[in-house]
Amino acid sequence: MNEPDCLFCKIVTGDITADVVYESDSCIGFRDINPQAPTHVLVIPREHVATINDLPQGGAPIVGNLFLAAKAIAAAEGIADEGYRTVVNCNRAAGQTVFHLHLHLLGGRDLDWPPG
Ligand code: AMP
Ligand code: ZN
Repeated sequence: MNEPDCLFCKIVTGDITADVVYESDSCIGFRDINPQAPTHVLVIPREHVATINDLPQGGAPIVGNLFLAAKAIAAAEGIADEGYRTVVNCNRAAGQTVFHLHLHLLGGRDLDWPPG
């Protein structure tokens, strides 16, 4: 389930500390160490999946649970009504740097579109 060399697996196991704001059976949410908005939380599945490309055919619950966590975190952060953005980067061209699937939840300011 967990990859020994994966940074976010180590956050799941508690070997690396993080500012955790949400926990469920399936995923956890913690504040990004280099926030790009007043609220910048990363939501990850507890199980190791490297990228969207690596989702198994039966992986719809993994993705669904990430969004349900994002919904709950946005409400708790008080940004649900004004609005927020969810982003999942996949591989090099999108700028993925940590290869454990994660959803960025960004809010608390007006966000430009299109993104860079
Ligand atoms: P991505 O570029 O989509 O792979 O996003 C990886 C994110 O992980 C970046 O926004 C980093 O700032 C963030 N990050 C890296 N290490 C940590 C950490 N130890 N705790 C919290 N966030 C981290
Ligand atoms: Zn991992």
